Amino acid sequence: MTNRWSRTLLLPAAAILAVCLTPTGAGEETPLEGYSAANSRTEREWEGKFRALPDSKILRANMERLSARPHNVGTAYDKDNAEWILGRFKEWGWDAHIENFDVLYPTPKRRVVELIAPSRFAAKLEEPDVAADPTSSQKKEQLPTYHIYSADGDVTAPLVYVNYGGVEDYEELERLGISVKGAIVIVRYGRNWRGIKPKLASDHGAVGCLIYSDPRDDGYFQDNVFPNGPMRPADGVQRGSVEDFPSSFPGDPLYFDRGDPSAPRYTAANAPGITKIPVLPISYGDAQPLLAALGGPMAPSDWRGALPIPYHVGPGPAQVHLVVQSDWGLKTLYNVIARIPGASEPDEWVVRGNHHDAWVNGADDPISGQSALLEEARAMGELLKQGWRPKRTILYCAWDGEEPGLLGSTAWGEAHGKELQQHAVAYFNSDNTSRGLLLMSGSHVLEHFLNGVAREVEDPETKLSVQERRRLSLIGNAHTPAERAEIRSRSDVRLQALGSGSDYTVFIDRLGVASSDLRFGGETQGGVYHSIYDDFYWYTHFSDTEFVYGRALAQTIGTVVMRLADADLLPFDFAGLADAVRAYTKECEDLLKKEQEDTRERNLELREGVFRATNDPRRPVRPPKEQEAVPYLNFAPLDNAVDALAHSAEHYRRAVIRASAGSLLGSAEALRPINAELRASEQHLLDAAGLPHRPWYRHMIYAPGLYTGYGVKTLPGVREGIEQRQWQEAEGEIARLGSLLTADAAYIESIARQIEQASGSQ
Ligand SMILES: [Zn+2]
Repeated sequence: MTNRWSRTLLLPAAAILAVCLTPTGAGEETPLEGYSAANSRTEREWEGKFRALPDSKILRANMERLSARPHNVGTAYDKDNAEWILGRFKEWGWDAHIENFDVLYPTPKRRVVELIAPSRFAAKLEEPDVAADPTSSQKKEQLPTYHIYSADGDVTAPLVYVNYGGVEDYEELERLGISVKGAIVIVRYGRNWRGIKPKLASDHGAVGCLIYSDPRDDGYFQDNVFPNGPMRPADGVQRGSVEDFPSSFPGDPLYFDRGDPSAPRYTAANAPGITKIPVLPISYGDAQPLLAALGGPMAPSDWRGALPIPYHVGPGPAQVHLVVQSDWGLKTLYNVIARIPGASEPDEWVVRGNHHDAWVNGADDPISGQSALLEEARAMGELLKQGWRPKRTILYCAWDGEEPGLLGSTAWGEAHGKELQQHAVAYFNSDNTSRGLLLMSGSHVLEHFLNGVAREVEDPETKLSVQERRRLSLIGNAHTPAERAEIRSRSDVRLQALGSGSDYTVFIDRLGVASSDLRFGGETQGGVYHSIYDDFYWYTHFSDTEFVYGRALAQTIGTVVMRLADADLLPFDFAGLADAVRAYTKECEDLLKKEQEDTRERNLELREGVFRATNDPRRPVRPPKEQEAVPYLNFAPLDNAVDALAHSAEHYRRAVIRASAGSLLGSAEALRPINAELRASEQHLLDAAGLPHRPWYRHMIYAPGLYTGYGVKTLPGVREGIEQRQWQEAEGEIARLGSLLTADAAYIESIARQIEQASGSQ
């Protein structure tokens, strides 16, 4: 069958389901999907009570308490916060405990950045306190500015400016005839994840790396700087992890997988996640004298930032001395794990998490999300007192050690991997949250369900539903008529795919637990990320100052958790998945076509002499290299699998709609085995062998990009094979993905038949 055929078939079903989700009037409500009429009525009552409970004043108080002092891993206040959170859960009637893990957590002992030629300048490497901001003066407890998991080193070398330090920037440098071999590179934050920058720098032979925040991206070019505005001041520094997790694995760099005793173990000396060269973050105050001392050609125009200097590339005459020395000790993590046992299906778990550790005070990151999580937990505690008992077990987790590299969630997820693969229904994550639109990402089996909940939560400022506001904003921001038409053709907002950068990673990428990340954003300018200024003062002046979006987040995720925990039939839906995989496949096919056309054109221009003719003889750049022609790849295995998946998804929808009209949803006995199959469905998207060159990542649809870090690569084996011009590998990955998805389609088909048989016999 063709694309067009399955699309027209999918739309009416989507429309029917959308109608089902909308209350049709007082007393005459269509049951919630996956619910019998009676259970749906009860559920709506409890959810209504729940959504009235989250309180902005309490959200504010939670944030004030948890961000009162610096609380990075290993500090007294990190442990104190965990114990305080534990106490709250217990007070609200949850069964809660702390799970500890010891992890490698280097902290800086010695940091030096100095210009030694042509003039001398010593970088401050300090963030000054701000009079108006009371917690900015907690100097003794603040973690110095550094990059965790940087190698130790003491190097002196000429400086080279490499823009964002991405793959394309090194190609540009090569055309300028500039090598970074033996140099220290200075890179600006942005475009790719920070850990990619030292990785590519060392791959190209650099001996050191400085990463700074340019005011064009993160400073006065955007808005007033703190404390007069939300943006980064001249001495503000972005700390962060540079663990090379995309090409190895996230979590403690010493453990490949804590749940597998036969998995490799490492030491600080040989862990693949630790950078090969020393790297430090610096402010634009410290960066300016270094950049101003560079000679060599002018930087290409789109490399220039907003500092009042001409941006040159180097190398030299600036010579820089860089020292990084850390204390390579272990520290203890405190994960708080709280539980409400399920009344009738205790072996099915709905899991929710947000980290509690920060780089410094971390009001925005992560306490804005943690405060919402705690309000959900308090509200559920209230419902328990009123007699609510969730059908399934609910697990709430306050993770430690997210900032250094998702340490707490990864350790816990791996240690409990087998149980999670057996019992977990889904994992819902949040992290920092602010004002604006509901940003929904996650596994596409959850797409339809999440849209349903989002239709029932009100945006606190516009009073639209958070789903409708998001959908309309997507139309407003679409770039092409085709994009707009696609959004208008679906009642559901498409979930964004998950890359990495927060605690969902182990659940989705390693364990195959359907996962989602939810937060509000887009209407707060932020320039204090991972600095001492991300604190209660900043958040209450420049972000969700009334905590109304914090309340909306608690209402949204709390409803999501309750509705999934109480459903008779798990409201998973595969049409969104089939649709997303079809779109990703098309993107990969288009990507190949573009590579073919670009290569053909470039090679032709080289032969015609276009580059010779347009090259300024006084400022010559090298022509790009001629590249081998791009072959055609056989996408048929994948195209066929996509059609099979769409067909099964459609069959599944019809089976559910028919079953919902009968009495199946009233029979827990009949539903139990079906729910077990649904729960395991995301695991059918894993391949035990993992992605090429990075076996920790087992999900074949979503992964963090090897050269983007947090940014997602969908159908990663295929897409990255094409991007890296590994044609054979790409074709192998198309075949592997094709058979995986064909098997998944058969699996969905079998669940659909099971539902039909069960509803026939009711
Ligand atoms: Zn965070």
